[in-house]
Amino acid sequence: MSTAAADAPNATTAADQARDLFRELTGTTPEGAWSAPGRANLIGEHTDYNDGFVFPFAIAHRTHVALGRRDDGRIRVVSTFDPVPVEIALADLDALFPARRDEIVEWARYPLGVAWALRQAAPAADVTGIDLAFASSVPVGAGLSSSAAIEGATASALNDTWNLGLDRVALARAGRRAENEAVGAPTGIMDQMASMLGEADAGIFLDCRSLDAQVIELGLAAAGLELLVIDTGVTHAHSTGGYGERRAACERGAEIMGVPALRDVSVADLARAEQLMDEVTFRRVRHVVTENQRVLDTVRTLREQGPTAIGDLLVASHASMRDDFEISVPELDTAVEASLAAGAVGARMTGGGFGGAAIALVAHDLIPQVTDAVVAAFAASGFAPPTIFTVTPSAGAGRDA
Ligand code: ADP
Ligand code: MG
Repeated sequence: MSTAAADAPNATTAADQARDLFRELTGTTPEGAWSAPGRANLIGEHTDYNDGFVFPFAIAHRTHVALGRRDDGRIRVVSTFDPVPVEIALADLDALFPARRDEIVEWARYPLGVAWALRQAAPAADVTGIDLAFASSVPVGAGLSSSAAIEGATASALNDTWNLGLDRVALARAGRRAENEAVGAPTGIMDQMASMLGEADAGIFLDCRSLDAQVIELGLAAAGLELLVIDTGVTHAHSTGGYGERRAACERGAEIMGVPALRDVSVADLARAEQLMDEVTFRRVRHVVTENQRVLDTVRTLREQGPTAIGDLLVASHASMRDDFEISVPELDTAVEASLAAGAVGARMTGGGFGGAAIALVAHDLIPQVTDAVVAAFAASGFAPPTIFTVTPSAGAGRDA
């Protein structure tokens, strides 16, 4: 069986690594330590840019930062990913981002971009220089948003240290702004909201239009359920065109329906939509419209019946992405089908598609069985072995020490 970050990730290790790295950098002990989690999306895919609903949760894998103040007005960042520190005067951040961001090594644009976005959000704040050392247990590029984790850890640490008094939504916005403008990645705000607002055994029901967020209890532990991530290892590098085509189809569909976004189309409107648009556009629209409804149904079902009852919604979400939105790949379909055949309550691909990971809701006792079945199904199809691990809905960003 192939389990990389199996079970509970070793949080102590990443926290220790951040502190050790800080000591190496400065020769001193850090003043404080903060961390923020990665996230997985339980349901609600390609609904975010349609002003719709998503339902992610923060995971136990976290990015840790050790912090110390310095008196020269400069900010220095270092990571176990790249031990070469990057340093700049805080006063120079405004000239750097976004115009000259290419001068900074990509990973450092995340924390420096957050510092820049926070200073723009709270320009009156009296800020000191800062040293930041990062270490993480969030796998990169597995669709678990290591980017939101480093943004959240930075935002939380600087908000406290600089006494900015920004709330969690403002910190999430700063993270998104860093990712969009300092890094240059055109992403939504779901990841940052999940990383900031997560709670143990809970999901974040987010309205991407109003940014209203509700913490919804999942009740997994009480139901004896766990969430498995099956990372196919298939990269979505070739997805750029496909992603753009899907977004364009959604915009076209909304325009034909005469609404600002597909969020404003209901399941009852679909019969009319089918008359008005070509077959492919209609199927794209149908995915988004039914997926929005499935998010609402998932939240209601959790409240009324508990997590064992949401399996069919997860399965329907996968079918919709496979057949209507056409963003699945054979590895993801295999992961879902093999999980279900081995007794998973529900399973679906998660993330943008064209590769990445699937998520499966599985009874605790069936984890080994489902894992073995997926590994065997991949081998039988000649696919490279997947990486399989559990993710535990966990607390959002905050101070640890
Ligand atoms: P993901 O799906 O993991 O969020 P992204 O491409 O959005 O993938 O973000 C990954 C990038 O974020 C990394 O390539 C790196 O530049 C940056 N990053 C994430 N975590 C860290 C870390 N602990 N230290 C330094 N850089 C990090
Ligand atoms: Mg990311």
